[in-house]
Amino acid sequence: MKFSEIHGHQELKLNLASVIRQGRIPHAQMVIAREGSGALPLALAYAQYTSCTNKAGDDSCGTCASCVKYAQLIHPDLHLSFPIFGSSETCDDFIQAFREAFLSNHMLTLNDWLRSIGGENKRPNINIRECRNIIKKLSLRPYESDFKVLIMWLPEYLGKEGNVLLKLLEEPPHNTLFLLVTENQDQILTTIISRTQFIKVPVYSYQEIEAYLVGKELSVPDVARNIALMAEGNLSKAIRLSGEMEDTQFESFRQWLLDCYSGNLGKIISEADQYSEKGKEGLKMFLMYGIQMVRSALLIQHQSMENKLTAGEIEFVGKLARLIHLENARDIYEALNQAIFEIDRNGSIKLILINLSLKLKYSLRPKGNLQTA
Ligand SMILES: [Zn+2]
Repeated sequence: MKFSEIHGHQELKLNLASVIRQGRIPHAQMVIAREGSGALPLALAYAQYTSCTNKAGDDSCGTCASCVKYAQLIHPDLHLSFPIFGSSETCDDFIQAFREAFLSNHMLTLNDWLRSIGGENKRPNINIRECRNIIKKLSLRPYESDFKVLIMWLPEYLGKEGNVLLKLLEEPPHNTLFLLVTENQDQILTTIISRTQFIKVPVYSYQEIEAYLVGKELSVPDVARNIALMAEGNLSKAIRLSGEMEDTQFESFRQWLLDCYSGNLGKIISEADQYSEKGKEGLKMFLMYGIQMVRSALLIQHQSMENKLTAGEIEFVGKLARLIHLENARDIYEALNQAIFEIDRNGSIKLILINLSLKLKYSLRPKGNLQTA
C-alpha cells in the first residue's frame, strides 16, 4: 500500500520516506502504536516504499512490478508473521487468510483477525515453529528486491521462544529489514526491544477520526463526532461503531439523564422496554456515550470542548457539570461501567437499565448535597 492510502500521520510518513531516501534504514525497527492507529498499514507502506523501483517523491509509485505485488501482499521478499493459534502450524499456513483479512480491512485488529480464522476464544501466539521458519526464510537471498522484509505484527505474542530470533536481530543477513509492529511494548521480551529502533505512531485525534468517517461516508457529521469521542483515538473502533450507530445518542441520553435526575420512574421503565427491544449492543453504545458525557462534564470546567462536542452537547455538558463533580464522578462512572459489564454477561437489559437509573437518581446531585440510597 502507498503512504497516501493511510489516513493522517502526515509528518510521520514524510519522516519515514526521508529516512529511506537517504539510505539510512535501520535494520530492526519497532513500530509502537495503540490499536487502531494504522501501524500495520504504515509498516507495509514503509516496506513497499523501500522496494519501489520508481519512487515518486515521498511515496511509492503504486504501479511498478514491486508495488503491484506489495499491494496484494504477494511480493516474494515480503515475509509476514502474526499471531496464530496452536503449535503445529506456521504463518505460511494462514497467509492466504491473512491477505484476505487485511486487504478487505486495512484497520484489522487482532480480534478481527482471530475471528476470521475461527480462533476467537483461542490463545493466540507466534510459536517456535514460526520463529524457525523465519530464520530459514531470511537466510535466503532476496528474490527480486534489494531488501528482504519481515513484518511481524504483534511480537508481544512471541513467547520466550522468541529468543531464538535474537541472533538474527543482532546480526541480520545482508539487506534484511525487520519491522516489528506492537500494540503492547511492555509485553515484549526486553532482549528483543533492546535490539530495535523505535518508530512511535501517534493515536488519531478526534478531528482525524471525524474527518475519516465523514470523508468515507460512514457517518453523518454529528454522529461521526459522537463516535470520535467514544473511539478515544482508535480508528478501528470508530469504523466498527459507525456500522452500529446510525443516530446521535445525544437527545436520548439527555432525556434519560433528566428522567433519572427527576426520578421519573414510569418513563425510565418504558425507556428500559425500548432498550430491551434494541438489544444489548444498542444499550452498550448508549452507555459508552454516557461515559464520555460524564468525562466531558468534568473536563469542560478546565478546557474547551469545542472540537469534540456539538453546540447542543456543550450546552448540556455545561449544565451537567453542576451535577457531576469530583465528589460523585467516580460512582457515576463505575455505575455506567458496571452496567456495560453486566450487559456483556447477558444480564437482563431492562433490569440493568432500571437499576442504573436508580443509582444515578441518587448520585446526580450538586456538590456537597449528596444523598444516600
Ligand atoms: Zn513502485
